[in-house]
Amino acid sequence: MKIINSIYEMQKQAEALRASKKIIGFVPTMGYLHEGHLSLVRKARELSDIVVVSIFVNPTQFGPNEDLDRYPRDFERDRKLLEQENTDIIFYPEAKDMYPEGFCTYVQVRGMEDFLCGKSRKGHFIGVAMVVIKLFNIVKPHYAVFGLKDYQQFKIIERMVKDLNMDLEVIPYPTVREKDGLALSSRNTYLSEEERKKALIIYESIKTLKEMFKKGIRDPNALKQRAKEMLESEGGVIIDYISICDTETLEELTIIKDKALYAIACFVGKTRLIDNSILEV
Ligand code: AMP
Repeated sequence: MKIINSIYEMQKQAEALRASKKIIGFVPTMGYLHEGHLSLVRKARELSDIVVVSIFVNPTQFGPNEDLDRYPRDFERDRKLLEQENTDIIFYPEAKDMYPEGFCTYVQVRGMEDFLCGKSRKGHFIGVAMVVIKLFNIVKPHYAVFGLKDYQQFKIIERMVKDLNMDLEVIPYPTVREKDGLALSSRNTYLSEEERKKALIIYESIKTLKEMFKKGIRDPNALKQRAKEMLESEGGVIIDYISICDTETLEELTIIKDKALYAIACFVGKTRLIDNSILEV
């Protein structure tokens, strides 16, 4: 397994691999890896000859009052986990190289970024789009695997790749959960034992709304109201948003035709957690 820090060296490697007809699969991450990330790596392995995983805590996707400084990092641990997965290359660049002085380009995927996390994390998806384009230009993958835990992120990247005729395929991967339903997240490490128990209400609300949907309840307000009651019943869980929205445009729905996305963001203590699930029969 190679560890590459230099952007130039990564580009040269990618060029050489492409010249020798190797298929490159890519998993972009911010590190502090868990089973969710590793499932994406396995998916990339299934599709490709060479698997590249990037580890980069991207400063431009964090707001001024967010957790950039305290975001968990442990390169040595990540390195071991990726070695066990037979990863071929870890791309581990530095922020000063990714964003040299004078950097001023950005790409905006309009519309979709106005909803859900885009509403409460202004500029977040501009930062995401920027780093993903840069990483694609550096790693030159044929496939890039993204988790549906960040559903809005996946849809934005999928749209961007289509709109910009980028020559790769983005592959979605379902949310990986703990046995008790909590979606895996690097941020779960911030949770105290008590907060972790409280956080289970998020998955409970997903299960409840799925059942309601199966029973024929299609009124978005009734579904949201039930979710709100459940989340609020757990003291210390502060709702950022609860949304029943279109699975493609992410626009809030007033009527559900055949399916909808239930998306939640909430603070458990100081930790912001997100989750989602598609409601369908
Ligand atoms: P992050 O390191 O949080 O930026 O995540 C890197 C990639 O892993 C993104 O595509 C995420 O959607 C994905 N990911 C994070 N958590 C999970 C999970 N629990 N299940 C599946 N994919 C995940």
